[in-house]
Amino acid sequence: MSTWVLQLMADGGSAEAETKHHECRNCGENLSPDVDECPTCGGEMAVYTF
Ligand SMILES: [Zn+2]
Repeated sequence: MSTWVLQLMADGGSAEAETKHHECRNCGENLSPDVDECPTCGGEMAVYTF
C-alpha cells in the first residue's frame, strides 16, 4: 500500500496553519483572536485569512 493517503492528510493538516489577522471592523485596531469585540471601541471583530 502506498503512502499517498498519509501525504494528503499531512497537507490537509497544514492548512490550519494559515495566517489569520484579527482586527476591529470599526477602528482597525489589531485584536487578540480570543476576544469577541474591540476593547477600544466595542466594534465588531473582522478576521482576515491569508
Ligand atoms: Zn475598535
